[in-house]
Amino acid sequence: MTARERPCAIIIGGGISGLSSAWFLHVRGYDVRLIEASDRVGGVISTTLRNDFMVERGPNTTLQKPGRPEDAIGRLMDETGLSSRAIEAAPAGQKRFILRDGRVLALPGSPPAFVTSKAFSWGAKLRLLKEPFIGRAQSEESIAGFVERRLGREFLDYAVDPFISGVYAGDTRALSVRAAVPRIFELEQQYGSLIRGALALGKAAKSAGMPAGRQISFERGMSGLPLGIAEKLPPGSVATGLCAQSIERFGSQWRVHLDGDGGKTTQTGDVLVLALPAQETARLISPLSAEAARIIGDIPYVSVSSVGLGYARSQIGHPLDGFGFLAPRVENMRTLGVLFSSTLFDGRAPQDHVLLTAFMGGAHDVQEAELPTATIFQLVEADLASALQIDGSPAYRRISRYARAIPQYTLGHLDRIAEADRRMEPFAGLHLRGNWRDGISVADCVRAGETLAQRISS
Ligand SMILES: Cc1cc2nc3c(=O)[nH]c(=O)nc-3n(C[C@H](O)[C@H](O)[C@H](O)COP(=O)(O)OP(=O)(O)OC[C@H]3O[C@@H](n4cnc5c(N)ncnc54)[C@H](O)[C@@H]3O)c2cc1C
Repeated sequence: MTARERPCAIIIGGGISGLSSAWFLHVRGYDVRLIEASDRVGGVISTTLRNDFMVERGPNTTLQKPGRPEDAIGRLMDETGLSSRAIEAAPAGQKRFILRDGRVLALPGSPPAFVTSKAFSWGAKLRLLKEPFIGRAQSEESIAGFVERRLGREFLDYAVDPFISGVYAGDTRALSVRAAVPRIFELEQQYGSLIRGALALGKAAKSAGMPAGRQISFERGMSGLPLGIAEKLPPGSVATGLCAQSIERFGSQWRVHLDGDGGKTTQTGDVLVLALPAQETARLISPLSAEAARIIGDIPYVSVSSVGLGYARSQIGHPLDGFGFLAPRVENMRTLGVLFSSTLFDGRAPQDHVLLTAFMGGAHDVQEAELPTATIFQLVEADLASALQIDGSPAYRRISRYARAIPQYTLGHLDRIAEADRRMEPFAGLHLRGNWRDGISVADCVRAGETLAQRISS
């Protein structure tokens, strides 16, 4: 096939959703043109190196599940040569902590550890014995409703609520279990019990010799992923500093009107992928379907601040021997959780120093968006000082604020997305991607890119 005969795919948005769509279309024979409005690819994935502290402004790590059918990120890393540049979190990262009664306690990592754990009361442990005998839900449930029904209130407050804060910064009473944590929902559907399902899956994975999932980053930090994909796309495939202003049908093709430093231009392709945040997607599709645009534009987002703090090791009493800690809402701590970044990956802090990454905001703290940056630093530093026995101020601080950080898959989300998809069906060749629809983790966005490319090219 000559370059001319290759179908052309235009991808708008150079975050991980757009880059992985571009990559998987490229390997399936498409001539790809990726258009990004800002001056760099990666979207919210962004790593900065200052004063020898390597700080993640967005995601710090993502979960890869080698050998599983859903491991699209593993396939992408193999195809782009990024596998050799991926780094796995230190084994200590398997230990996770929660805050309970103001103390940082290890979460149990195995059934025997669960029995002796101080993180849960005897009442909560005994309550779990009932779980295998509880029936399936009859209608769509919130995460809180689902977990409280199956596992009890304490498990909701001290395990699931903080975990959901760590992923969605969300409210478990508003989020749909089916949409936001589909794997957990599927356990109930398939096995009738989370405990039975988890045991069965663990056994099946063990007998198939499947390795456990691993938390990964890259030599250059998480930015190594988007930069590595962009470098491996054919020269001229990626254009930054170009903002898509509008889209239109052009015969059997799609045309995009672009605005950049060089003025206004257009691009025309056989396939058009919008891999953008929900509001921007809604703006571009509104001339095609006002109803689909309304549904997508109404997806709620929460605001989050990510705060990188560097300390001398000697300032911190806690051994930082784990992934980090999550603060359950019932503990009334303003900080949602903290990652022990320099424990997880080498090269994050200078000699004899450590790097912590804390998060604030989310569905339960809408005031965070209005707070001055200095106040956020003060609040987070005070929380960390008491939880981790920190003496004195940090040697380094960096904040990244996102007014619309994470889309919330609230009750009815999947039905609304299905309705938007129905409204967009007449527009063949136009495809919508982004973390507002097929999962929010980096690995989910990559998988959605692969699924899309398979569908388009089949
Ligand atoms: C603070 C934070 C922490 C996170 N932590 C984790 C984590 O630890 N692990 C994990 O797996 N996930 C994490 N996530 C989630 C994950 O990082 C995101 O869901 C994912 O990176 C989103 O990728 P995306 O490509 O869909 O969107 P984005 O990254 O938002 O990319 C969209 C791109 O579109 C561009 N764009 C917008 N409008 C236009 C236009 N008109 N024309 C051209 N380009 C345009 C933007 O500039 C942007 O680059 C985190 C997210 C945040 C915000």
